[in-house]
Amino acid sequence: MRDRDGLRRFLFERYPIRGHLVRVDAAWRALIEHRDYPVPVRDALGEAVAATLLLAGTIKFDGVLSLQLQGDGPMPLLLAQCTSGFGVRGLARFEEALGGDAIGGDARRADPGTAPRLDALVGAGHLTVTLESEDQSRRYQGVVPIGGARLADSLQGYFENSEQLPTRLWLFADENGASGMLLQKLPGSPGVEPGEADDLEDAWRRAQLLGDTLTHAEMRSLADREILRRLFHEDDLRLFDAAPVYFRCRCSRGRVGNMLHALGEEETRAVLAERGEVEVRCDFCNRAYRFDAVDVAEIFRGTSAGGVSVH
Ligand SMILES: [Zn+2]
Repeated sequence: MRDRDGLRRFLFERYPIRGHLVRVDAAWRALIEHRDYPVPVRDALGEAVAATLLLAGTIKFDGVLSLQLQGDGPMPLLLAQCTSGFGVRGLARFEEALGGDAIGGDARRADPGTAPRLDALVGAGHLTVTLESEDQSRRYQGVVPIGGARLADSLQGYFENSEQLPTRLWLFADENGASGMLLQKLPGSPGVEPGEADDLEDAWRRAQLLGDTLTHAEMRSLADREILRRLFHEDDLRLFDAAPVYFRCRCSRGRVGNMLHALGEEETRAVLAERGEVEVRCDFCNRAYRFDAVDVAEIFRGTSAGGVSVH
């Protein structure tokens, strides 16, 4: 029986190479439950969700990691977020045409039955990785152009351009789950003999080649242990317990109120006058927040009639 909804770390015993396997099952279905995403958009989002978890597994942080794709194509925005506790959420915006036949077969699929072509979906644009601490006091951001058919290709560019550890990712998604594997070459220990460094390079190259043979069908049907045994049967691996991953939206009534405040009193009151209440649905989880006249007055208390808000 295969593993579900978890992020599992593993180490090569003889080389400074580590990896992670990720499975997003129930969490993935909860994430897309209220959305009617066209298949290529859904699968691209699934790959991004798997990628954020894999990236989050490699860094020590306390906050939120975001992976954002923006471009001029029929899917202009894709956003996946993961907390340091492996709670994920995500969304994609797409042109209605993507749901029909307006987009060509090339953009739908790189190959029949495999993954969406990301460069055709997002168009010319960029991939941004953002790391924000919980209190938003610290922020790291890396930006690279989108390139290649798969999200993993753009992420490859991200790792090469941001002077991070050499890293490879393999990502998969369908209606039932998102999954993936990450391999990362760690800095060699000091005092490594030149011969050992060559050994390490060979081992890293070989690990990537073996990683390239991982299939979606294997991820769908086999347990983590079995996958790693098949891929790296010549290597001694140490497997750690899987950390649970889950769907978690961070929206709240307070945050939505702040959003209405930013939108402005005039516009908010216009909606209130027209509909009797202001309803805002969270883009991530579809939860509805309703504000009546009293709530709206409370949000804009101290800012009306040209007054200056004093906090
Ligand atoms: Zn939400």
